[in-house]
Amino acid sequence: MNETLSAVLALCRARLAEAGLADAATDARVLVAGLLDLSPTELLLRSDRIVDAADRARIEAALARRIAREPVHRILGARDFYGVRLTLSPETLEPRPDTEILVEAMLLPARQLIARKGSARLLDLGTGTGAIALALLKEIPELQAVGVDLSSGALETARRNADLNDVAERFSTVESRWFDRLVGRFDIIVSNPPYITRDVIAELDPDVRRYDPILALDGGPDGLDAYRAIAGGIDNFLEEDGWIGLEIGFDQKQTVTALFSDAGYTLTDAFRDYGGQDRVLVFTRKNP
Ligand code: GLN
Repeated sequence: MNETLSAVLALCRARLAEAGLADAATDARVLVAGLLDLSPTELLLRSDRIVDAADRARIEAALARRIAREPVHRILGARDFYGVRLTLSPETLEPRPDTEILVEAMLLPARQLIARKGSARLLDLGTGTGAIALALLKEIPELQAVGVDLSSGALETARRNADLNDVAERFSTVESRWFDRLVGRFDIIVSNPPYITRDVIAELDPDVRRYDPILALDGGPDGLDAYRAIAGGIDNFLEEDGWIGLEIGFDQKQTVTALFSDAGYTLTDAFRDYGGQDRVLVFTRKNP
């Protein structure tokens, strides 16, 4: 059967829409482009090319996985985040575009510190794929980073991603629950910790609930367990003039600010995400 690329795309779109997927057209484009290694423009420009049987079979297998609600980038095994290509594994949260705002937020503090000191050390707590740390390492050549995670599988993925993005010599990992097994001080501490309230996890979209690791989502009974652990330990690990950047849940700005205020830190900046929700907080010491 000689099907053109545009016919295959139309068929994928129809199959996904029929299965009730809300973004069938986008999913079909991302999946087919990823599987055939084509850019979005090539996908349009080469729409009359013939899709061979082997590619057709790979597309069919991917469709079945998407219909079972596996997210498109998990099917492809990788996604882009702030210009960094990240492989994914079952142990890692799939990085979200909103988390790029945390990267943006830390660029200026990092550059100011480096202008003053020549170099800076970053700690990424719950690094997962390494997304935040690796994006900052790629942007800022004078930066060194340590990625911490409770999951050894996640750290393996993070190290592979550091390698793939040519920053491995400035990235190391420590298997630890928050600060437990760390030594030394850092100029910048960042984290996108688990912050979902435990009893709403069951209500999450199946794409998230079934495929993102629960360890990366479950923030405990009130969603704040990770922030309490970080606020409780940070004094021994942050330099006097250091910065903290945190991703938070949409309704956690007040509570997280209060937790860090009690620990001696002041909110210097807050950013909303692409949906207009509070998403990123930046803190410094009250009395450096
Ligand atoms: N933003 C993620 C979600 O909506 C949650 C990530 C987290 O808990 N850090 O699924």
